[in-house]
Amino acid sequence: MPEFGSDSSFPTEEPVCIGIDLGTTHSLVSVFRDGKPELISNAHGEKLTPSIVGVLQDGQIVVGSAARELRVTAPERCAWVFKRYMGQERKLKLGDKEFTPHELSSLVLQSLRDDAAAQLNTEITDAVITVPAYFNDHQRTATRLAGEMAGLNVRRMINEPTAAALVYGFHAREDEKNLCVIDLGGGTFDVTVMEVFEGTLEIRATAGESMLGGEDFTDRMVSAVLSGEDTQLELAELQQPLRVSRLRGECEKAKRLLSKEESCKIRLPDKDGNFAEKPKTYRLTRADFSRMCDPLMQRIAGPIARALRDAELDPKEIDDVILVGGSTRMPVLRDFVIDYFGKPPIIDHDPDEVVALGAAVQAALIGQDAAVDDMVMTDVCPFTLGVEVVKEFGGHMQDGYFKPVLHRNCTIPVSREEVFSTVAANQTNVTLRVFQGDARKVADNTALGQLEVKGLPPGPAGSPIYVRFTYDLSGVLEVEAYAPGGERFRTVLTNHVHQLSPAQIEEAKRRIDALKFYPRDDLDNQKLARFAERMLGELHPSQRQQLDEALDIYEDAMARSDREHFASAKDTLLMVLSSLGLDHEDL
Ligand code: AMP
Repeated sequence: MPEFGSDSSFPTEEPVCIGIDLGTTHSLVSVFRDGKPELISNAHGEKLTPSIVGVLQDGQIVVGSAARELRVTAPERCAWVFKRYMGQERKLKLGDKEFTPHELSSLVLQSLRDDAAAQLNTEITDAVITVPAYFNDHQRTATRLAGEMAGLNVRRMINEPTAAALVYGFHAREDEKNLCVIDLGGGTFDVTVMEVFEGTLEIRATAGESMLGGEDFTDRMVSAVLSGEDTQLELAELQQPLRVSRLRGECEKAKRLLSKEESCKIRLPDKDGNFAEKPKTYRLTRADFSRMCDPLMQRIAGPIARALRDAELDPKEIDDVILVGGSTRMPVLRDFVIDYFGKPPIIDHDPDEVVALGAAVQAALIGQDAAVDDMVMTDVCPFTLGVEVVKEFGGHMQDGYFKPVLHRNCTIPVSREEVFSTVAANQTNVTLRVFQGDARKVADNTALGQLEVKGLPPGPAGSPIYVRFTYDLSGVLEVEAYAPGGERFRTVLTNHVHQLSPAQIEEAKRRIDALKFYPRDDLDNQKLARFAERMLGELHPSQRQQLDEALDIYEDAMARSDREHFASAKDTLLMVLSSLGLDHEDL
């Protein structure tokens, strides 16, 4: 892969549009350059930036691997897997600061934007951001808002499996086949069925779950080690947060190891989260772990069957099964594919990288790059979207029923109008409640918000009200309602927490801008401090003192601006770590 230098080949007048895979556990940034998509490294020279945000004792913000190091010793000052809560009105506490999930995502996006700007030596204003296909309207709007707060003009949000398919389509334009992309990330699961022919990529169906991912597989292992069920895991988390946090770290390593080895040993921390010199261990085989994951595999099979049904295809009609997302490295998933589709999956690209590369291909399509001028892509709306209606049963009115306006897996962009009618004579107002889902009753679907339609002209019961749903290429819904000749009312779904006014967005941006980021140059130093701090917790008490002292001197030197003093403090710390056999090379 060519290195980016300061002699960037970007035309200066065109804004550079980057691609961002905003992942649950890690995020990546990419660009389309010289006729192909490429990944951009972060300030540490790594392609994967952990989606973790931390607040240091002095209030400064760290993002990525420095925050990951901090998490091990001070989980209460860090936030991770917040992508799962996107679109929810919850606050996450980091030390004495509170953040919403979209604010935390905006900090990750800002860090990626800065990395891209530094590597490409140009200002970055535009981005394509990927989202799980199964993200609903709230989650997508929250993602767009996070992008805006990070100073990015979000040109398009694109479904993650679609992005992966774009990379395969980019390389195999001449093929004619049916593909199934299975995307199992850290926190979300999507499946997409598509057809490729003569440079056209037609998404036929998408299904998934936004609360199922690799983290659930790790959690099952943690629960098994604690020899309890999920509820006991939650209880243990409350009672012994450091122990569970460290055990989860060990289980995460074990899970990855079991993707290569037949069995492994998990080190067990004591109740305070410390490891003894010879810690107790728990032996786990790959077969046991696979059995443990049975209930999760059943949840995975459901959406795959549904997507195939919607695409009117049999498993055997799928030519290639493509795996995306770090969790598809698990043998249990690969065995499942062989069982279900009767063929092994195709793994041409690194499952961690392919979504970000696809975002760069989408950026090229938006920018009409000559390298993609023979490619066309069509996507679908993954959900059924509709409104609540009242039904009449023998003169008795019963509300709470769901009437679809857009059917799941219709090709987007789409705009469709349905006629509804008033229930009472001279009815002047209607509250249009909007839902997503396939259940007959709205109570079993997801509420997206409501639209107040006021000032209807007087008329008999049954007077028409037109309702139009428009779903754009980024998967954002607009609802419009009107009576013939009356005023038109547009979206602003009122319980929609993220429909902020431009002034409110500006205010949110100012709040984020006011946060002090840890200086980028110092990130590696910061990471070293967090690593040493973490190692301290793992050492035998007799070895602690030496490292403790070196760390004190190092942190003190970091706070001062004397270069020479700092360099010698850093050398000392590195020497102490080496003498204790602690490998900081792969930090
Ligand atoms: P994401 O960042 O959303 O793509 O998800 C990364 C997920 O992949 C995390 O849950 C990791 O635990 C999981 N993962 C990464 N590498 C492996 C591996 N070798 N075996 C099993 N799971 C993995």
